[in-house]
Amino acid sequence: MPMTWEVPSQAGAKPKAEIHIIKDQCKGCGFCIYYCPRKVLGESDEINARGAHPPKVVNESECILCSLCTAICPDFAIFVKEKQCKDGC
Ligand code: SF4
Ligand code: SF4
Repeated sequence: MPMTWEVPSQAGAKPKAEIHIIKDQCKGCGFCIYYCPRKVLGESDEINARGAHPPKVVNESECILCSLCTAICPDFAIFVKEKQCKDGC
């Protein structure tokens, strides 16, 4: 029997993202902000333990869970999960 696989965003309701930034691990390079295809992230004024500005989430609903930000982050400081919605969130 052939295996089938559906892109989550084509499988019905668009999945919602839960973006996690491990702020004190971030060196503020800005790669995730620059390369995010949906401009979900932006610069923040916050200063972390490394003296850097970690990104902030500015447009979470636009996230397509592609995980490009995770793949390109040199410091493993960001990851994205699908939000587990219990009451139709
Ligand atoms: S998972 Fe993709 S769309 Fe979402 S924040 Fe990361 S790079 Fe942007
Ligand atoms: S790519 Fe990683 S280290 Fe660079 S700004 Fe984003 S979270 Fe911080």
